[in-house]
Amino acid sequence: MGNILEVNHLKKYFKTNRGVLHAVDDITFTIERGKTLGIVGESGCGKSTTGRCVMRLIEPTGGEILFEGRDLMKLSKREMRAKRNDIQIIFQDPFSSLDPRCTVMQTIAEGVKVTGKYRTKKEVEMRVIELMRIAGLAERLINAYPHELDGGRRQRIGIARALAVEPKLIICDEPVSALDVSIQAQILNLLRELQEELGLTYVFITHDLAVVNHISDEIMVMYLGQTVEKAPAEELFTNPIHPYTKALLSAIPIPKVGAKKERVLLRGEVSSPINPGDECRFAKRCPHARAECRTSCPQLQEKSPGHFAACHLFGSENKTTSL
Ligand code: SF4
Repeated sequence: MGNILEVNHLKKYFKTNRGVLHAVDDITFTIERGKTLGIVGESGCGKSTTGRCVMRLIEPTGGEILFEGRDLMKLSKREMRAKRNDIQIIFQDPFSSLDPRCTVMQTIAEGVKVTGKYRTKKEVEMRVIELMRIAGLAERLINAYPHELDGGRRQRIGIARALAVEPKLIICDEPVSALDVSIQAQILNLLRELQEELGLTYVFITHDLAVVNHISDEIMVMYLGQTVEKAPAEELFTNPIHPYTKALLSAIPIPKVGAKKERVLLRGEVSSPINPGDECRFAKRCPHARAECRTSCPQLQEKSPGHFAACHLFGSENKTTSL
């Protein structure tokens, strides 16, 4: 199907009183049309900043963002605004991302009108009702306000609003983190069904590897602004390489009574992303850190086809390959 998105050497730095914060530090990835890339990592690893940079909601410091072959970094602000109809975002907190003064109808209709396809009031209303049905919202809620709805329904409004402009790529930024577990499953199923039905491509950002496994074709693990591992979802879960990925996986509970697995507890302080040195950024917490890790930052290397990791433990046995 070809790649819909290619991100090359993306960087986002912020100046602070204490120095330069490397929020996103030279990351490269591609996504095939109709597929899902999961981006996972702890709070502050740069995953949400990456999503916002792709949409240019915040301006990247450097790099290249090719969407359908066109470099978004070279678009004017006006051109970029138009391009955002093709790239939409669903936020973590559906309540704060919705205007409390707007009904469901008004919220979704805004996007419907942007397409220019629905001219009369009746046509817009019919399209809003169709989008509500697609997102699993009952028609009777059309005049409801966000505060009258529960978290799951609010997130369905967020999804319907994103779909209203008929996007090709949706950045889902922790879309189920604020929801109860049963509602999380419903929203994940809905996103999967919509992907099949509409051929959507997703960037799915989350701190929870268990969640990302259900929806991703590929998973990229980030730590302090860098990619530390990237692989097809099944491969990452069955053959993790990086000590950080292994620690994240060990924290996922096994859904079986009495089943146990060894939890990797990460001790030590988190390195500062401000003026980072040449060491591995995970070295202070890594149970396998050795002298080399404190003097040089490992580069991503390909362990097996499509499976990349940045760790000195594997550096000597694999060749360097760009993503
Ligand atoms: Fe741990 Fe060293 Fe690998 Fe970093 S490079 S993850 S410190 S073993």
